[in-house]
Amino acid sequence: MQKRGRDAELSRLRLALRRHLDELKKAVKVVMARGALVKGNVYELARKCGKPNCACQRGQLHRSMVLSSSERGKTRLRVLPAGRVAEIRQKSEAYLRLRRARAQVTKSGKEIVAGIDRIEQLRREDI
Ligand SMILES: [Zn+2]
Repeated sequence: MQKRGRDAELSRLRLALRRHLDELKKAVKVVMARGALVKGNVYELARKCGKPNCACQRGQLHRSMVLSSSERGKTRLRVLPAGRVAEIRQKSEAYLRLRRARAQVTKSGKEIVAGIDRIEQLRREDI
């Protein structure tokens, strides 16, 4: 490779490395936050109970807030007491942020290592 082409690529690689380090730093910052985490998603479940004369058979479904989580490949649903919905939703959102941050750390980490390998290739001199 021509020296100028190599230097230009090295410049781009250094910039990309800096960008990936910023992403990594941001993601790790999310992980370092305090507060409890609750695994799972909070949502409203609307269902019929199966009793033949119940109002739910005429469309007035039974509604409850639930936490859905996957445990050993199985979906587990827990009905949330009304007084804890906001708190558990907040902790479940914190959990999702941590998981997204973890995925970002994996992605940025891979990109950083790939960048380092390419920089090594370009800077290496055989004697
Ligand atoms: Zn019913």
